[in-house]
Amino acid sequence: MLTIALTKGRILKETLPLLEQVGITPEEDIAASRKLVFATNRSDVRLVILRGSDVPTFVQFGTADVGVSGKDVIMEHGGNGFYEPLDLKIARCRLMTATVKGRDDINARLRVATKYVNIARHYYAEQGRQVELIKLYGAMELAPIMELADEIVDIVDTGNTLKANGLEARETIADISSRLIVNKASMKLNHAPIQQLISDLAAVV
Ligand code: AMP
Repeated sequence: MLTIALTKGRILKETLPLLEQVGITPEEDIAASRKLVFATNRSDVRLVILRGSDVPTFVQFGTADVGVSGKDVIMEHGGNGFYEPLDLKIARCRLMTATVKGRDDINARLRVATKYVNIARHYYAEQGRQVELIKLYGAMELAPIMELADEIVDIVDTGNTLKANGLEARETIADISSRLIVNKASMKLNHAPIQQLISDLAAVV
């Protein structure tokens, strides 16, 4: 049995057509269901629906053999225990720093609010900048407006969310897209079907 981990929302919407093109279709409408495990037309493939930040963890421990995860989530996780053989080129966006429009950095020691604390720690350290990191779980845009932080590190797609809140993007930390990730042991033990899946998907992206 090959277990593929996905997340609801943009990744699910953009991954299902890819899976369909390589001959894998769920037996029911995932978006409309509250179930978490789904059989497919292939008796040897099932899909599990996880929270985005849990996909790398399930794949790391081999609970799922394969997963689809944003590069931002993979970077924050650290990437231990799995390979990242294919860029699916979906759910594209950028991971950026942002702050209040027109604001100059005046504090020597920046306060940065983000859910990506590992990425942010690494990024500012590389630049030799002293920062105080504040972990948030949502609505990062509020932090600079309410003066909880000087800057945020967040995902930007069109930039409309920043703009609507009087913020502007500053520096790009990474270009993001969704990647296929594969548990290292599964890649060895289940080589033929996984290699087939990778090459079939590579042909359609
Ligand atoms: P936008 O207003 O188009 O810049 O979108 C920004 C918001 O949409 C961000 O705060 C994210 O929460 C979300 N977002 C946009 N693209 C993605 C993506 N590819 N993956 C996850 N979240 C995203």
